[in-house]
Amino acid sequence: MTIKTIHWSNESRESSLVNVNTTTPSTPSPRHERLLSTSVLVIGTGGAGLRASIELAERGVQVLAVGKRRKHDAHTTLAAGGINAALGTMDPEDSWQQHAADTLRESYFLADPAIVEVVTKGAAQGIADLERWGMPFAREDDGRISQRFFGAHTYRRTCYAGDYTGLEIQRTLLRRARELEVPIVDTIYITRLLEHDGRIFGAYGFDIVDGTPIIIHADAVILAAGGHTRIWRNTSSRRDENTGDSFRLAALAGGKIRDAELVQFHPSGILEPADAAGLLISEAARGEGGILRNALGERYMEKYDPERMELSTRDRVALASYTEIVEGRGTTNGGVFLDVSHLPRETIFEKLPRVYRNMIDLQMLDITQSPIEIAPTAHYSMGGVWVRPEDHGTGVDGLYAIGEASSGLHGANRLGGNSLIELLVYGRITGADAAEYVSGIETVHRSAEAVAVARNEMQALLTRGGADHTAATSESPRLLQRALREIMTEHAGVVRSEAGLTEGLAKLDALEERVARVSAHPDISGFDDLAHAFDLYGSMLAARATLECARERRETRGCHNRSDYTEQRDEMRGNFIWTPDEGVTFEAAAEAPDSFRELAHAHLDDSVDGKLVE
Ligand SMILES: Cc1cc2nc3c(=O)[nH]c(=O)nc-3n(C[C@H](O)[C@H](O)[C@H](O)COP(=O)(O)OP(=O)(O)OC[C@H]3O[C@@H](n4cnc5c(N)ncnc54)[C@H](O)[C@@H]3O)c2cc1C
Repeated sequence: MTIKTIHWSNESRESSLVNVNTTTPSTPSPRHERLLSTSVLVIGTGGAGLRASIELAERGVQVLAVGKRRKHDAHTTLAAGGINAALGTMDPEDSWQQHAADTLRESYFLADPAIVEVVTKGAAQGIADLERWGMPFAREDDGRISQRFFGAHTYRRTCYAGDYTGLEIQRTLLRRARELEVPIVDTIYITRLLEHDGRIFGAYGFDIVDGTPIIIHADAVILAAGGHTRIWRNTSSRRDENTGDSFRLAALAGGKIRDAELVQFHPSGILEPADAAGLLISEAARGEGGILRNALGERYMEKYDPERMELSTRDRVALASYTEIVEGRGTTNGGVFLDVSHLPRETIFEKLPRVYRNMIDLQMLDITQSPIEIAPTAHYSMGGVWVRPEDHGTGVDGLYAIGEASSGLHGANRLGGNSLIELLVYGRITGADAAEYVSGIETVHRSAEAVAVARNEMQALLTRGGADHTAATSESPRLLQRALREIMTEHAGVVRSEAGLTEGLAKLDALEERVARVSAHPDISGFDDLAHAFDLYGSMLAARATLECARERRETRGCHNRSDYTEQRDEMRGNFIWTPDEGVTFEAAAEAPDSFRELAHAHLDDSVDGKLVE
C-alpha cells in the first residue's frame, strides 16, 4: 500500500504538501490514492476561501485551502470597481442601515434581510481587516480612505484601489495567509464532498498536474468555489471558472440551491475572439459618454430609457441590447455597437486605458476610431448554495458555503461592490464558526461507501471507451460544454419564457444522455481533460437548477425577465429552493427588521416600465 496519512499543522509549508506521493497513475485506484488530513478543508482560494482560511489559522485551527486554478489568478483578481462599507469617510450621514436598505431595495426585496444585516453591519470590520494587513486603498490627502459612488447607492461608500481592487484584495489576503503559513495547494480539483449520515467528513479529488486521486479527511468543509456564470456562451468568467462546481458539490452532499435563475447579465461583453468572448468593457465607457447603436445605426436607448439613455441601470441596458439583437437589429455576430470614438482621445487614454489596451491586444481595434461590438454577458450568480444567515452553514453538518458560491445577499439584483465585502464578512464569520464546530467534535464517522462512489465516478471517466478512449460512442467534455452553453444562451438568457425554458429542459435531457458517455483523456500536459469532465458535471447540474427555477419564477423581477409574465408579482416575493431529488419548492421572503425596512421602501420603484420583452 502506498497510502500515506499526513497530519497538517500550521507549521506545514506549501512545498511539503506537493511533494508527497507523486506516483503518476494512468488510471486512479485505491492503491495510488493520496490521503490528506486536516481539521477544516477550504475549497477555493479566491477572496472568500482565503479570508476564511486566515480566520482559522489565526485561531490556531488546522486548515488546508485547495483550488483548481492558480491562487494568484483567482476570479477575485478580476474585480475592478470596489468594495462597500458605510464608513462615512466622504458622506458622514451614511450608516449600515442605509447600506442595508440600498442592498434590499436593489435586490427587489428578495435578499434575506438577516444576511443583509450581517454583511452591512460587519462591513467596516472587513475593511479594517484589509487595512491592517496592508491593503493599498485609495486615500484622500488627509489620509481618509476614499469612497466613491456606485450605482443605486445613496451615499459614496465604495472603497477601491485604482482599477485593481480585486487584485489588491487577493494579494493582501495571500500575503496574510503566507505570514500565517496557511497551506494552500492550488492544483487540487475537488470532485465530491464526502458525507455520511448528514455530516461531512472530507472531500475527494485529484491532482490536476499528475492525476493522483486524493482523499482529504476533514471535520468541516468550507465551500468557496464560486458560482455558475460560465454555463452561458458570453460570460465574464474564464474557461475553468464558475462552472457550477459549488452547486454540484453541495447538492450531492445534501445541500440546497437557492434562486439559481437569478443571474446578473452585464450589458457589455465583447464577442471576439471566441476564447475571450464575454470579457467586460467597463461601464465607465458608457459613463464617460459612450453611445449604443444597433446595426442600423440607431441610438436605441432613446426607446428604452429616453431620460437616462446609456446611463440607465445595468439590467435595463442589458435588456435593451438583448431586445435589439433578438428583434433582428443586431450585428451579424449577434451584438450591438458601443461607440466612444467621438470622445477626445485624451479622455479615452485617461479614463478608459484598460479598455483601449484590451481592444488593441485582443482585436487590434482602435476604439478612438471604431465602435466596439458587444452583447450582454453572464456576470454574477446571485443565487447559489442555500445558507443560514448566522454562520453560512448549509444545513449539512460541517458544511459551509461562502462568497459567490452562496446566496441570500443579492436577491434579484446585486448592488455593485457588495460581492467583495461579502467575501470578507462571511469569510471571517464562517471561519470562526467552523473553528468552534470542529473543536466540539469527538468522533467522526467515515463511510467507505461514500469514498467508493467518488472513486468509481472518477475511474469511470478515465476508463470509459476503453484504454485508448477511442470508442466511437465516447463523448468529449469540451464539445458538450459548448452544447450546454448554447442551450443556456438560447433558453435562459436575458429574457425567458415558459415555452423556451421547457424546450431548454428537453434539450438538457437529451444532452444528459450524451454526458453519460463522456470520457476524459489525460495527456502529457496533465489532467485538464478530467477537470473539464467534472466542470461539465457541475455545469449540467447548475443548468438544470437554473432552468427549473426560472420556469417556476413566473414574473419579471430584477435580472429575471419573462416575456410571458412581464409584471412583478407580490406572491412571488420569495426564493426558489432546488434539490436534485425534490426539484423546486418556494419559500416566502422574510420581512426586513424595523431598523432598515422603512428606509428601503422609502425609494421603492418596482415598476418594470422600459423593460421591453421579446
Ligand atoms: C470583471 C469583474 C469585475 C468585478 N468587479 C467587482 C467589484 O468591483 N466589486 C465587487 O464587489 N465584485 C466584483 N466582481 C465580483 C467578484 O469579483 C466575485 O464575485 C468574487 O471575487 C468571488 O469571489 P469568491 O472567493 O467567492 O470566488 P472566486 O474568486 O471565483 O474563487 C473560487 C475558487 O474556487 C476554486 N474552485 C472552484 N471549483 C473548484 C473545485 N471543483 N475544486 C477545487 N477548487 C475549486 C477556484 O480555483 C478558486 O480558487 C467582479 C467580477 C468580475 C468578473
